Amino acid sequence: MIAGPQPFERIDLHAHSHWSDGTLGPEELVALARTRGVQLLALTDHDTMAGCEAAATACAAAGIGFLYGSELTSLWRGREIHVVGLRLDPHSASLAAHLAGVRAQRAERIRAIGLKLDARGLPGADIAAAVLARPGTPTRLHVARELVRRGHATDEDDAFQRWLGKGQPAAVAAAWPGVAASVAAINTAGGAAVLAHPHRYRLSAGALRELCGEFLAAGGLGLEVSLPGMGIGDASRAAALARRYGLAGSCGSDFHVPGIPWRPLGRFAKLPEGIVPITERLGLEPAPGTLRASQAPAAE
Ligand code: AMP
Ligand code: MN
Ligand code: MN
Ligand code: MN
Repeated sequence: MIAGPQPFERIDLHAHSHWSDGTLGPEELVALARTRGVQLLALTDHDTMAGCEAAATACAAAGIGFLYGSELTSLWRGREIHVVGLRLDPHSASLAAHLAGVRAQRAERIRAIGLKLDARGLPGADIAAAVLARPGTPTRLHVARELVRRGHATDEDDAFQRWLGKGQPAAVAAAWPGVAASVAAINTAGGAAVLAHPHRYRLSAGALRELCGEFLAAGGLGLEVSLPGMGIGDASRAAALARRYGLAGSCGSDFHVPGIPWRPLGRFAKLPEGIVPITERLGLEPAPGTLRASQAPAAE
């Protein structure tokens, strides 16, 4: 048999650390990726690259390929859409300015949520202050955790249903940058823009096609076609969109916390028929001698 370039067996191009709403530090995340046999990892915290340097160092030591990444909060036709940037230049001043702008909007939103909680007799100002005091991107998930910790919700989901979710007393909308602006910010940093989790937007099939068309026209490169939580129908719809628009296929776990068996870090990079892997578009190959999934322990 002739040995050609080996495809990746296990990659994860969508994962969070405590620099946004994950719970592990970048080094802990990489340690977990190593035990799961991940050969290529991207850290894609919401609107920040703060954890990427530490993750890159840890990946280099572990023999794991690493891509600087971030998940950019964006708006399209009034809906929140997430655009993952991969292989970003950490020194891009324009991307850094874009991300800092979104984090400032997020901080403003957390303060507004605090005011709304105050109006309902909850310690909203204290909660907002606690969320904004921690390093990293502030998110509603941190507010939810504070609400749970202080006994105002039974769990995070309850906090969203009772207070933070759409139509609830502390819901606050935000005017995030448009999808095209996020793609442009990623492209100016030399990165590849990937439309995240298309199955979660509750868009009609027609609207999703229009989103993909505009994303492609704006300079988008890929679409997430394989994520935990995608049903067979979701996956085949995502694959059809990728084929129709010539978008490369990306996959990742959208990992936030360990111990959730249905959302483990590390995915088999087996993409549907006819989909070009984003790794191929980026010209990536596994480094010789990297840990292979078959050698790795299965447990988290
Ligand atoms: P934000 O980006 O500030 O809007 O916060 C949203 C984050 O909260 C998401 O990235 C999820 O991690 C998390 N989240 C959203 N909805 C829920 C929910 N219903 N239950 C638990 N976590 C949620
Ligand atoms: Mn999140
Ligand atoms: Mn997302
Ligand atoms: Mn995510």
